[in-house]
Amino acid sequence: MVPEVVFVLGAPGAGKGTQCSLISDEFGFVHLSAGDLLREERQRPGSEFGEMIEEKICNGQIVPVEVTCSLLHKAMQKSGKTRFLIDGFPRNKDNLDGWERVMSDKAKLVFVLFFECSRDKCTERCLSRGAAGSGRSDDNLESLQKRFSTYLNDTMPIINHYDQQGLVRRVSAEHSPEAVFQSVKEVFGKSGLERIAN
Ligand code: UDP
Ligand code: MG
Repeated sequence: MVPEVVFVLGAPGAGKGTQCSLISDEFGFVHLSAGDLLREERQRPGSEFGEMIEEKICNGQIVPVEVTCSLLHKAMQKSGKTRFLIDGFPRNKDNLDGWERVMSDKAKLVFVLFFECSRDKCTERCLSRGAAGSGRSDDNLESLQKRFSTYLNDTMPIINHYDQQGLVRRVSAEHSPEAVFQSVKEVFGKSGLERIAN
């Protein structure tokens, strides 16, 4: 069976990670955060990409797709599972083209879950996550400004691209995790993806 993939996109701080863990518990998806995989690779002793990844992350720029896609592909294979939430990817045209080149015959995109949230709210969440000790080198005002402009300039066109194909499912992410998850459940309920055990 060809693995099924849901891409999860939204501004930094929109709540992608929080919602993905709720979805994976309830609907039996494996949650793969592209950002987390890159942070892990950055920490891996002997990684030839560590410094490049750190620089991109601090500047809110996007790592070349060859690196990210190979981490995602390996994690998918390693899991032995067939349903994946891919969180925070694809973020630009390079990501999209690279994924299609390598993965289009290895995975089926079911839909794109898009969390909509105001910039003020997102900024407030990332700053409080930083203040609470997220340990992330990009949860500060300066990196956040750069992350936002990358999001607007590079990621929104990708969301529009999928929207034109009728693949985007929008959810308002302004409210509490529980309230947002109610809307997420409606999306999954309508998707024809029946619930499976994790
Ligand atoms: N990143 C990247 N490619 C990806 C995902 C993340 O280069 O496919 C980098 C990018 O620099 C981004 C950072 O990792 O700003 C943090 O991404 P993450 O998804 O963890 O942040 P979030 O959007 O969840 O706040
Ligand atoms: Mg995240």
